[in-house]
Amino acid sequence: MTEETLDPTNWEAMRQLGHRMVDDMLDYLRTVRNRPVWQPIPPETKQLLKQPLPIAPQAHEDVYREFREHILPHPMGNIHPRFWGWVIGTGTPFGALSEMLAATMNPNVGGGDQGAVYVEQQVLDWCKEMLGFPSAASGILVSGGSMANLVGLTVARNKMAGFDVQTEGVAAGSRKLALYGSVEMHSSIQKAAEILGFGREGVREIPVDANFRIQIDVLAASIAEDRRRGYQPCCVVGNAGAVNTGAIDDLGALADLCEAENLWFHVDGAFGALAALAPDLRPLVSGMERADSLAFDLHKWMCIPYEAGCVLVRHAATHHRSFSASGAYLSHAKRGLSAGDTWFSEYGVQLSRSFRALKVWMSLKEHGCARYGRIISRNVQQARYLADRIEASERFELLAPAPLNVVCFRFVHPDYSEAALDELNENLLALLQESGVAVVSSTRIDGRFALRTAITNHRTRRDDFDVLLRTLDELGQQSIVEPCGATRMDVALDGAAT
Ligand SMILES: *Cc1c(COP(=O)(O)O)cnc(C)c1O
Repeated sequence: MTEETLDPTNWEAMRQLGHRMVDDMLDYLRTVRNRPVWQPIPPETKQLLKQPLPIAPQAHEDVYREFREHILPHPMGNIHPRFWGWVIGTGTPFGALSEMLAATMNPNVGGGDQGAVYVEQQVLDWCKEMLGFPSAASGILVSGGSMANLVGLTVARNKMAGFDVQTEGVAAGSRKLALYGSVEMHSSIQKAAEILGFGREGVREIPVDANFRIQIDVLAASIAEDRRRGYQPCCVVGNAGAVNTGAIDDLGALADLCEAENLWFHVDGAFGALAALAPDLRPLVSGMERADSLAFDLHKWMCIPYEAGCVLVRHAATHHRSFSASGAYLSHAKRGLSAGDTWFSEYGVQLSRSFRALKVWMSLKEHGCARYGRIISRNVQQARYLADRIEASERFELLAPAPLNVVCFRFVHPDYSEAALDELNENLLALLQESGVAVVSSTRIDGRFALRTAITNHRTRRDDFDVLLRTLDELGQQSIVEPCGATRMDVALDGAAT
């Protein structure tokens, strides 16, 4: 009698199914342009995903069929050439295959003398080189920008609190800690500040200029004021590609200020940091390489399959000290599997970690960083093309400068009030997504509802933006003639047309 395992009883059948899965997935990716970007999930499908807990085994074939019929047809859409919602990368076929390889080896990359650790070290060294960081810097691959910000800001807090936070806890400090960044900072910075005990009241949201860049003089005044009031200023967060508009703070000036004020300089470069790969864009993020810590994503503009982010820290020892809490069950050794000089579990929050380095390593080799630079540069040119077309059109209005790959705009109509335009554009956003033609997302710019197009998509062609504007124009015209919920007259009356 054989003892039960989780392996297939028929390896040959599994091999055949596996080959079919690879064939199906490559076909799926190759034909993605022919399908709707996104479509609403029918209620029956949602119902199908409320099954009872499986107690007995089901056949591989059946499980795969269910996936193909009920899950695969309802993607988020970010693999599609006309997806520009939030800031979401596209992924690649080779990246998808590399995930299979990583999952097959299935190592826990917390540490140890194993290949995956050396692959991650290699990837980190490449990232330092790509972004101009010194080779002695430390780093770690993490789930994404949010975690990268949390790790960077943890090191910042521990180093700059003025007392031993790790031993005594934040409450022991005689002065409240303060963190600075612009009003355009990403919400993950706020989350990190809450987790780290800065509290929302310890976060200074400094106003921005007309280009959505932090006002350095206001920042300097705020730091001085805090010092007078007995706060402990710790850290300044610079935006390299702010989420709303793609604005890039004057990173060189922020680095100067941090040096003069003895503050930690953290850069949130979730997507914008990768502009450094394109020779024509690199000057935009100059100063970034002077950061004490730099957070960026690989799953956004590098199109590595989710999840992959990275944080680099200039002060390796301080970084290590922040996360090196360890137990006897994790002790290192000079020989054997417990050897190895880098234990990634001591540079971040996670102990058990996936082999996310493999997909990055394979992708960088597949394309070379110059090709990434060309794609990134093209996405920025596409954003300029879209912004130019919007500015040349009477139907649309550009709501913010588009210095990088993010374009914020709206459909306009002369008879509509601000409130009516907000409503119209909100409706337009849903209509566009439901049409399956394209996906953009939204934000508020100076209080106005904006359609927001963030281009981190290697499949997008320039004419995809002609399709976007044509579709929005048609949907906009239809909403004016047949508005949802209100007649045109209602809208005009309610809005006291100006
Ligand atoms: C996306 C983003 C983040 C968060 O990154 P995740 O990978 O989504 O966790 C942080 N900052 C900026 C500017 C972003 O665009």
